[in-house]
Parts: sequence; structure tokens; C-alpha cells
Amino acid sequence: MPGGHTQTLRPFLWRASKLYGDTEIVSRNHDGMSRQTYAEYADRTARLANALDEHGIEQGDRVGTFCWNTDRHFETYFAVPSMGGQLHTINPLLPDEHIRYIVEDANDEVIFVDPSLAEKIAGAADGAEEFEGVDFVAMGEEPIEALDAPAYETFVDGHDADYDWPDLDDDQPAGMCYTSGTTGKPKGVEYTQSMLWSHTMMSLSPQGIPMADDDVVMPVVPMFHVNAWGMPFTATAGGSKQVFPGPSPNAEHLATLIEEEGVTVTAGVPTVWLGLMEYCEENDPDLSSLERVIVGGSAAPESMIRWFDDRGVELLHAWGMTEMSPIGSVAHLKSDLEDEEYETQLEKRSKQGLMAPGLEFKIIDEDGNRIAWDGEEFGELYVRGPSVTKEYFKRPDANEEDFENGWLKTGDVVSVDPDGYLKIVDREKDVIKSGGEWISSVELENAVMAHDDVSEATVIGVPHEKWQERPVAFVVPTEDADRDTLDDEILEMLGDEYPKWWLPDAVEYIDEVPKTATGKFSKKDLREQYTGSMELHEGSAPEDAAPSR
Ligand code: AMP
Repeated sequence: MPGGHTQTLRPFLWRASKLYGDTEIVSRNHDGMSRQTYAEYADRTARLANALDEHGIEQGDRVGTFCWNTDRHFETYFAVPSMGGQLHTINPLLPDEHIRYIVEDANDEVIFVDPSLAEKIAGAADGAEEFEGVDFVAMGEEPIEALDAPAYETFVDGHDADYDWPDLDDDQPAGMCYTSGTTGKPKGVEYTQSMLWSHTMMSLSPQGIPMADDDVVMPVVPMFHVNAWGMPFTATAGGSKQVFPGPSPNAEHLATLIEEEGVTVTAGVPTVWLGLMEYCEENDPDLSSLERVIVGGSAAPESMIRWFDDRGVELLHAWGMTEMSPIGSVAHLKSDLEDEEYETQLEKRSKQGLMAPGLEFKIIDEDGNRIAWDGEEFGELYVRGPSVTKEYFKRPDANEEDFENGWLKTGDVVSVDPDGYLKIVDREKDVIKSGGEWISSVELENAVMAHDDVSEATVIGVPHEKWQERPVAFVVPTEDADRDTLDDEILEMLGDEYPKWWLPDAVEYIDEVPKTATGKFSKKDLREQYTGSMELHEGSAPEDAAPSR
């Protein structure tokens, strides 16, 4: 049998451009709204592929993006993988050091940069050898001189709208995204053509996050987070109109786009919807087109599900991971629960949901046994399936830790009820998720401990109304420390190295960090001791404590 080239992304675009050639792709850009059709999009995608060809990009090369959700970013989504390249979406919210590391690790040849992020990447690249040999292209009509980057429109201009797309192997790497590890450097996840193809087909199913030709799809989740949860691919496969909300969209931008473009399906982390809910209470925009909101990345509060229900919008709670392309489970209501009381239904819909078709899971307790499906017992969730990665990029150390006999160990501690609904009860990973973005507690506490007047320190995530979690540092000062100034000094020191949204909301002094029997810091005990009484509220975090999402 010759190698397979059937599970690839390109036929999704081919179909959309042939069957839905007039359907629109709309984007909020720096210079206003732009509109094109799938037929035009197919041409622009081919022009981009020709331009990249001329630039010297070959099969297997990596092309980076440092961009918000825009139509031009979407053009890279099909052009790069379909010519045999690998699209590496870089998270611009990461600390500079992480950005330098992943650009070198991935060996990006070219990076497309959103104009509003030019300063950020120029700062990270300044004098950094990791960026040697990287060329930039400015995502717009104007060049970016500081990066020696031609304007995207100039880059693609004059190139042919036909491209001789190659037949690609199903295993050809098509995408790449880094995830923040508990310890050490971010870990690269490679998406092959068939992983993205499988994820798209799974998403399209009624048990996934379906999108069809009568839908208007707006991904609010950034396109640098696991391909915006695969939505641009799923929407193209379904022939949906697509709406890209552009650079740093706020609640007003989102409400306006929903109203004006008739958005039916949208998706993002809870923080985004809390912002929209607040905006709606004051401004009463018309959300009547909206049918479904997919919420994931962190747990969707029950009150949010009720709020959308009251407005006739179905909130679908989903769980996933970068390693899973990323959809894992979706909290659809099973048909035999349709006659149950609303409160019973709500309890199910608030859980992380039912594993999507094509995936398998098992839950292993501390003794290595599978747990009962009783909604009570809990253990670590293991998953496998065609859209789940089998290894990290160049990280044998992490592979050994996070994979076992073909299963991915998720680090999420879950229960499963007799109906099959998964519920996350804890997280083994030592990371804090603030507004959908990871903060490494280990990195922060190492940085805090570097202060001369700190004898011990640890950082944990504390529940927060708006950002879901925020870091708080627990510090044991040395005897000579000046307790009046130490907390400010620590924050100032961290501020030199980390973005503002990484900084702890509070520095608390304690006598001792609780330890486990083997002498390790016991964050579990600390959480139990302190965080119950410590729910953080809006206002406790600095204004720009978390990324503008
Ligand atoms: P990422 O790889 O950045 O997409 O993060 C994946 C992790 O985010 C999961 O392993 C969970 O810890 C967390 N997560 C994702 N979705 C949810 C959800 N719906 N509820 C709670 N935690 C979630």
C-alpha cells in the first residue's frame, strides 16, 4: 500500500471554496473590518503558499505566527500545512525568555507578526541569538521597520492564485503549539495532518462542537492556543461563515460582532464570558443570533450556564488539552436526561462532560487501579486517540513522565459518574491558570527564593472571581528581614523578569511551608490551610494582571 494522503486538511478548504464559495470570512483588523469569501480565501491562500515557496520555505520547515485572531492569520492556517510546512503558533503573552526558547527549539524560519505585537517580539528578539536567521513578515498593509519586516500584502502581492499543492503523508507535521510545563521549559506538541483531520471530524460530530453551513462562527479563544480549539478548521469543514475578532477584543467588540455579523457559535475561556455578561447587564446588546457558546480552558461556573440559558443560548462546557488538539470532552446533555429536572441537568452540564467520539480514557487511582464509575472515587485521567499526541517534541524527559504505554497522563484528577460525565476535582500539575493562561508556580517560587531575605517560599493558585485563579506567594522571611518592605521588594524583583500578569496578587508571610512526609513542600496542605478563606475578588488583581482577553 502506498503511504496515505487522505487524512489531510486541504480537502476541507477545497470543499468550502467549491460548495460555499460566496460564504464570507470577516475580520476585525487594525485598519477596520475586512471581508472576503471562501473563493477569495482559496486564492489568497495559494498566493501566500507561492510567496513562502519563493522565500525558500520547503516541506518540513516551520513557519511561526505571533498574531491575534485575524483573517490573515487564518490564511496561514491552510497555506502553511497544505504546502507541507508546519505552522507554529507562538503565544505572545509568554515571558520573553520562553518566547526565545520556543523560537529556537522550533527553529522557525519565518514569523508573521501582528503590528500590535511588534514591540513585544522585538523586545524578546533584541540581541538574542535564538532569533538569528529568523525573517519577519508584518501582518498588514504596512511594513514594520524595527523587524525589517515587509508588509504581508506586499509579500503575497503578484503571486499566482494557483498552487500545485503536494500530496502529503498523513503523518506529515502540520502544526505546533507549546504548552507550559510544570517544571522546566515549555513543551512542544506537534500536530500531524491526520491528528488535525481527526480532530476536525470529531469536532463536526453532534457530540463534538458542531458547525454547519448555516452557522456563523467566531473563535474568541486565541488562534495561538491550539488553533483556537481547532475552530477555523471545523468551521471551514462545515462551510460556516467565520468571524475573527481581531487584536485584543473587549466585551464591546464581541457584542458588536455578534450583533452585526449574526454570530451563532462562539468559544472562549470563562473570563471572556464574565466580561461579556457584565457588559450585557449595562448595555443590553442584541445577542439573539447566538445559539451556542463553548466554554473551556478552565471550569465554567454554574451561574454562567444559567445566565446563558436565561437568554436562550446553550453553553457547552468543554475540557481539553494542548496535547489533544485540544478537544477531549464536551458536556452535552444525554437524550435520556432530557426529562430530568433542570437542576439535575445543570449538575451534569457543569461537569467537564462526555469524552468525544474517537477518544478513550481510563482513570487510575493512587494504587494504580482503575476507579469505579460512581461519581465519588477519583484518580488521574489518562487519554488516547487519533487526535492525541504520542510524545513531546525533543523532550524524552517529559515523555517518560507524561506518557505510559500509548496513554497520555493528563495530570487532571477526575471522577466519572455512572452516566459517563467526567468531573475535574483537582490538578496534579503545578501550574496556575489565570484567564486561560498558564503561570508556572515553580518558576515563580524559585525566583522568590532568590531574594536574600527569603528563607523558604512557595506559590499557589487561589480561586479568583474573574480570572479563575491568581498566584499568591507564601514566604518565610529570614530573621533579619524587614517585613514592611520585603513584599514590595519581591514583587519588584519579579516584575523585572516576568510579565505583570504573572506577578502574585499577594505576598503572605508564614512561619513555615507545610511539608509532606518526604520533606517536599505540600501545596495541598497550604491550599487547605489558607485558600478557603482567601477567595480573591475583582480588584485584588492589578488592572492588567492578566492578558487582555
Ligand atoms: P491547555 O493545554 O493550556 O489547553 O490546558 C489544559 C488543561 O486546562 C487541562 O489539563 C485542565 O487542567 C485545564 N482545563 C481545560 N479545560 C478545563 C475545564 N473545562 N475545566 C477545568 N479545567 C480545564
